[in-house]
Amino acid sequence: ANGAALVASELMPKELLAELKQIEHRFGRRSGGQRWGSRVLDLDIVLWSGGAWSSRGLTVPHAAFRTRDFVLGPATALAPS
Ligand code: ADP
Ligand code: MG
Repeated sequence: ANGAALVASELMPKELLAELKQIEHRFGRRSGGQRWGSRVLDLDIVLWSGGAWSSRGLTVPHAAFRTRDFVLGPATALAPS
């Protein structure tokens, strides 16, 4: 299943990604697993209200967000304009 949610947070993108990785880990995802197949949980940062972010290991908007229907569908529902 895929989904998107709008999340309010004071964290900067880098800090938020660290939290997301901890949650993935708690749900049993271990690094070194399958990249493209089914995974227990994959939490990505697709967009950020602050605009673009780029640092080692993190690019926002997510590199693939323009091409994936499971991102664009929920994204247009959240922000039609
Ligand atoms: P996927 O691209 O399918 O989400 P992974 O979940 O394995 O693949 O992510 C690989 C790495 O991509 C993460 O460890 C993270 O450092 C990096 N990454 C870069 N940009 C983002 C982003 N916007 N959201 C989440 N992870 C990102
Ligand atoms: Mg990911």
